[in-house]
Amino acid sequence: SCDQDKEYVGFATLPNQVHRKSVKKGFDFTLMVAGESGLGKSTLVNSLFLTDLYKDRKLLNAEERITQTVEITKHTVDIEEKGVKLKLTIVDTPGFGDAVNNTECWKSVADYIDQQFEQYFRDESGLNRKNIQDNRVHCCLYFISPFGHGLRPLDVEFMKALHEKVNIVPVLAKADTLTPTEVKRKKIKIREEIEQYGIKIYQFPDCDSDEDEDFKQQDQELKDCIPFAVIGSNTVVEAKGKRVRGRLYPWGIVEVENPAHCDFVKLRNMLVRTHMQDLKDVTRETHYENYRAHCIQSMTRMVVKERNRNKLTRESGTDFPIPMVPGATDTETEKLIREKDEEVRHSPCQKPHEQTQHHEQHPEPEPRVDPPSEPPPSAEPHSKGS
Ligand code: GDP
Repeated sequence: SCDQDKEYVGFATLPNQVHRKSVKKGFDFTLMVAGESGLGKSTLVNSLFLTDLYKDRKLLNAEERITQTVEITKHTVDIEEKGVKLKLTIVDTPGFGDAVNNTECWKSVADYIDQQFEQYFRDESGLNRKNIQDNRVHCCLYFISPFGHGLRPLDVEFMKALHEKVNIVPVLAKADTLTPTEVKRKKIKIREEIEQYGIKIYQFPDCDSDEDEDFKQQDQELKDCIPFAVIGSNTVVEAKGKRVRGRLYPWGIVEVENPAHCDFVKLRNMLVRTHMQDLKDVTRETHYENYRAHCIQSMTRMVVKERNRNKLTRESGTDFPIPMVPGATDTETEKLIREKDEEVRHSPCQKPHEQTQHHEQHPEPEPRVDPPSEPPPSAEPHSKGS
């Protein structure tokens, strides 16, 4: 009743305004999948978004893979659901872990992520900040093999190299190859190792204290689920009279979307329904901010260095807010000055007439003109001297 007494200004519609605007604009999300080839990355992505993103994929043979370098590929699809548009970009890393020597094979992935940050940084520091294409990677699903004993050295190296650049969500691939007890044990082992090696994977935000109990329980279950045990399939099979996405074995059917069989639905809900915005926020507020701060720091350091160098050589500091390419600009300027000096030295005597004419062409007096040795032809006839 107290609320009804108050006059209604109308800002309660703000959420609706935001809603309308963002629906109109559409959403985007960039997901990276990484991990050894053959772990089911493409199959899982297709199962997650019910699209065939890998129609034109070319698989390499063993010989080609020996010297393979990590390639980065990008597939974009526009999907729409109930009028809400989502531009989904999947970044794949074929060749990761495929070569004989895989030291530093995470480097091209790290470089790719940095390049996207760099592009964004340039764009947002530029003149036109409208319509910036944001290609920053919001989440990286890292596939862990179900056949090893916990994490392999490459997994540790990859995650440690990237955990400050991107939200890493580890997944236990091909979970149908393990029994429920094995899945449980592997998850515990992997979680322990993640902790032991100081790997910072994506942290689900804490639940608000005023959330209901059901929600809190679901949130805790999600956190306990790491790494998500996943199963992917490109085929639809019939199970108990229903057509479901699954894998058919002589001894039975494993259903991708059955929570008793794997964590596929939990992962999809997390990625799409509950945490997509948080993944984007963390990318913007933490990972990109880190990159930006580093960038600005090193730019400032360069300017200070440049100033000190100039002080030593010419006693004049530069005041450029943006660092200049070291060396290049200095030599360019020096070269120009030298050329100008030469020109002046070799130029014939200045012709006073030309100069006066030049002076006359300008309605406004020039700040400094050498006095001509003869009076100009256009000099005033009644001037004192004549
Ligand atoms: P990628 O190289 O990581 O993209 O792997 P693919 O998606 O191409 O899958 C490689 C092989 O593993 C294919 O034969 C898939 O049918 C199979 N596969 C994919 N997902 C699963 C899974 O969840 N369980 C099992 N058992 N096999 C899978």
